[in-house]
Amino acid sequence: MTADYDNRPPTDMESLLSRQRAAFLRDGIPTIYQRKERLQRLRAAVLAYRNQLEDAVSADFGHRSRHETAIMELVGVIQSIDYLSRHLRRFMRTERRHVALTYRSGRAYVEYQPKGIIGIMAPWNYPVSLVLIPLATALAAGNRAMLKPSELTPRTSDVLKDLLTQTFPADEVAVVRGGPDMGAAFSALAFDHLLFTGSTQVGRKVMKAASDNLVPVTLELGGKSPVVVGRGQVNDRAIGSIVFGKLANAGQTCVAPDYALVHEDDVDAFVKQFDVAVRAAYPEGPTSVDYSSIVSSGHYDRLKGLLGDARQKGGRVLEVGVHPEHATRRIRTMAPTLVVGARDDLAVMQEEIFGPILPVRSYRTMDEVIDFINARPRPLALYYFGSRDAECNKLLARTTSGNVGINNTMMHVAQDDLPFGGVGPSGMGAYHGIEGFRTMSHAKGVFVQGQWNLPSLLRAPFGRLVDLALAATLRGKRASSPKARAPGVHQSA
Ligand code: NAD
Repeated sequence: MTADYDNRPPTDMESLLSRQRAAFLRDGIPTIYQRKERLQRLRAAVLAYRNQLEDAVSADFGHRSRHETAIMELVGVIQSIDYLSRHLRRFMRTERRHVALTYRSGRAYVEYQPKGIIGIMAPWNYPVSLVLIPLATALAAGNRAMLKPSELTPRTSDVLKDLLTQTFPADEVAVVRGGPDMGAAFSALAFDHLLFTGSTQVGRKVMKAASDNLVPVTLELGGKSPVVVGRGQVNDRAIGSIVFGKLANAGQTCVAPDYALVHEDDVDAFVKQFDVAVRAAYPEGPTSVDYSSIVSSGHYDRLKGLLGDARQKGGRVLEVGVHPEHATRRIRTMAPTLVVGARDDLAVMQEEIFGPILPVRSYRTMDEVIDFINARPRPLALYYFGSRDAECNKLLARTTSGNVGINNTMMHVAQDDLPFGGVGPSGMGAYHGIEGFRTMSHAKGVFVQGQWNLPSLLRAPFGRLVDLALAATLRGKRASSPKARAPGVHQSA
């Protein structure tokens, strides 16, 4: 493997951007057929590189199961490409819009035009799909793209670079590799749109850098996503789903349930059942073939630090699942761990965990749960297990999060026709499906003058005809509407 990040000086990236922009202006807006052909090229390349991608991701992580990479990344990429291709005609259709009476016989419509060159910055945790789904979206919307994958998954970036270089000319799609310095230079380029996926701290810097060129940004960030287990709802299905959400990719997932809020009567059952479900999913403990390693020693030490802090402050730290004798045989594995009764002052309750640790807190009432969530930054995802009853409705109505999963974790991400994005510190804007297409398109409003538009008859010098037209226009509906005349008018009289 090579760690030869391109580390292009900013001027090289600028010239790459200029080449893409020149090609975009030269070739004009791609037709639906050209867009579909690009998507199909991408699809075929992903399938051809499947083994290389799975191997590279596993090598970058220390270990990640092929199945996990295929299910959590490649299926999502292929499904997105297929969905975008299938619905592209509808997405691209011009939309007729309302025309006021005054302008009738004219026509108003919106055309979705490619923005131009999209910058895409990705994190390491799903290093394939978080590059390729935004890319597919950019191509579907008729754009060209420059990509900056994470430096923490260099082998995957090598394969992606090879895959994309073989599939697209550099003036259509280009990959630039490097670390934070490169990221900073990349985010300062004058793209037509920048989609950043990564941490909230870096997201702030990226938005600042983009603002110098007034580049619009979509920020797909992180945070602490709660899972709320309704009273009496600890059962196989609920816990199986929470275990899946927390331990897929060893918890290194932006939408993983970060901490659990469990009714005080159910905490013991939750802990017991969680242990049973972990044993069933990972029969050889942390060395199971389907259990991932932690991506880097820096992240591994950070997670160990969180547990050290919890122990030191008297937290109840419980390693769950099977504890094999040779648990250390594989690099950077961390046992699934619960921190029961996690208090606010524990670091696990203060920062995004991004690992196989689940703090569990008890609650008595749904109001308490709602207040707890609302006292913290708005999460990327919220999960609820229970019936769709008044309690559930109250939780949904009185909290704000990116997306919500009811009786499942993480499945909202796989829904092509749902927008995906956070709110506030967990993100800004959204992509996937039509929202992604529109994020990467310019909605251009067009008004076509009709032959008999009223304003075209009313040009200076203004005379009696204008007074009549103004009287008719301004009288409007409000004056004659009984509703408008009712309380307000009486009060002011
Ligand atoms: P990160 O913010 O450290 O890095 C993301 C990208 O930014 C990388 O390509 C990196 O090289 C680049 N970068 C680093 N420093 C930079 C700087 N100063 N200026 C510009 N670019 C810079 O994030 P990460 O550690 O790779 O990923 C984990 C984070 O990403 C978590 O917070 C997670 O929740 C979040 N995430 C969010 C989503 C989502 O869709 N909302 C998906 C995956 C991960």
